[in-house]
Amino acid sequence: MGHFSDITLNMTQRIQRLPEAVVNQIAAGEVVENPASIVKELIENSLDAGARRIEIEIQGGGQQLIRVEDDGCGMSPEDALLCLERHATSKIRAMDDLQALSTMGFRGEALAAIASVSHFELKTGNAAEATRVMSEGGKVVSVGPCARNQGTTIEVRSLFFNVPARKKFQKSPFATTAQIRRIVETISLAHPDVAFTLVSQRNTLLKVPSNQDWKLRIEDVLEKHPLEICCSKDQMMIRGLVGGPEKTGPNRNGQYLFVNRRPIFSPLISRAVKEGFGTRIGESSHPSFVLFLELPPDKVDVNIHPQKREARFQDESKIFQFFEDAVSSVFEGPILAKPIDFTPPSFSFAEDPLPIFPQPFRTSSPSLPFSFPEKPIAVIGKFLLLEKEGMLLVDLGAAYARILFESMKKEKGEVQALIWPLEIPLSRSEAMDGDRISQELLKLGIESRLLGQILAIDTLPACMEAAHFSQFFTDWKSEKKLDSVACRFCRSLKKNYSLEEANLLWRRLQQCSDRKYDPLGNPIWSEIDESDLEKILGKT
Ligand code: ADP
Ligand code: MG
Repeated sequence: MGHFSDITLNMTQRIQRLPEAVVNQIAAGEVVENPASIVKELIENSLDAGARRIEIEIQGGGQQLIRVEDDGCGMSPEDALLCLERHATSKIRAMDDLQALSTMGFRGEALAAIASVSHFELKTGNAAEATRVMSEGGKVVSVGPCARNQGTTIEVRSLFFNVPARKKFQKSPFATTAQIRRIVETISLAHPDVAFTLVSQRNTLLKVPSNQDWKLRIEDVLEKHPLEICCSKDQMMIRGLVGGPEKTGPNRNGQYLFVNRRPIFSPLISRAVKEGFGTRIGESSHPSFVLFLELPPDKVDVNIHPQKREARFQDESKIFQFFEDAVSSVFEGPILAKPIDFTPPSFSFAEDPLPIFPQPFRTSSPSLPFSFPEKPIAVIGKFLLLEKEGMLLVDLGAAYARILFESMKKEKGEVQALIWPLEIPLSRSEAMDGDRISQELLKLGIESRLLGQILAIDTLPACMEAAHFSQFFTDWKSEKKLDSVACRFCRSLKKNYSLEEANLLWRRLQQCSDRKYDPLGNPIWSEIDESDLEKILGKT
């Protein structure tokens, strides 16, 4: 025991309490790693203060200046001083409040941390009076009344002036500007009721008005996403917009996900959305989307860490399935559906009954009376021109591929029995794997038997000639995924169509579950209007 108490003694002599300013600087490392995280904290404070207008200006990628101005509730002179102290917050009083948290911030750390590593100026006014507080490296250097309307302006200059190590590790102004832009854009998507402006070196990077329709907000900030999702199940709701298969990207930059209105990064949900695209999207591409998930707060933990953008879900496989189903269902909507109209997201279950997809279109039973008042006009090569409300141009090859693919995938799709079985020689290792090969092929209606090292094929899908099969089989061996090979096979079958055949094809397409995209994700049809015709003739 003797030597142990010696150490304890030494330790007590070494430990010293850190000065308050240093504690704040260390904490600042967690809360404010870079200019973008400061912008995020300041905007979230403005939102918590009920702002309807938030203006952000930056210089030097935020390292020279970050100014965030809002028209929120403002602060009293006492609060204006207090808010710079660590763990000073108006948002929770006790641990119990954490459960019912509706605000973005609650730790009361951000302002103290930001002020401790910058030249900081706060101007804030409530209905009665306005106050100005200046601080340098966390030390208040001046306090006094000032003139300003209700709301708050925070200016952060010379970021990390007193933490040279951190300053050295900052990215270029160009890179941090891009990060800030991304953060402002992301937050603005979830708050279509609030006006946002972002200005960098006098260039306006973003300007959106208040009280905007949520779909318009997405279009203004990003671009048009044609597929609309609105699904609910077991107290969970997803809504949002998804880009079509033609809008995919090489990475996940086009993905915006919000859980209970907070921006979240979730590899789980990214994968689920991709699964929902099925064969319509390539292995290495990523869909673009803006999706809002609402669920009871106790089913998800989003407060793991102030900087962590990841959410932890109670039931991950349920969430995965919900997203996959929601996305795959958008491909099953009717052609030219009138967009489901709902008011800007109010993000609550109680007051917002959900429009669900029209039931008849979810199951594509051929006995349904189809009432498509359309009129085939002409076949031009592999295209059909169709009158339907406006004009539609239909890619017959894509329509044909979709029909074939779905008939192949159907449990009782059309098949042809071969009079003479087709014999495919297998390698020794393939023969060992013969049972699995047979089972896989059966999913496309291809029946086969293993005879030693020969695979004997007895039935083929109606659309596949015996002569096609061996190429198909070779492609499968190199590609591995049977569905993708089947997609490409269906797309490769070319035909010439008469107007009657084309019309028939269009009608058969109506029985498919997806009438918008071929199995490889190419659009089957597009509306054409006057402006398209003008483009053909080179008029603007
Ligand atoms: P938190 O947001 O976690 O409470 P902060 O350090 O970000 O902690 O802010 C501390 C407090 O300062 C907030 O609780 C709030 O009362 C006040 N505050 C900060 N920014 C604003 C603002 N823009 N408008 C009004 N009050 C604000
Ligand atoms: Mg905050």
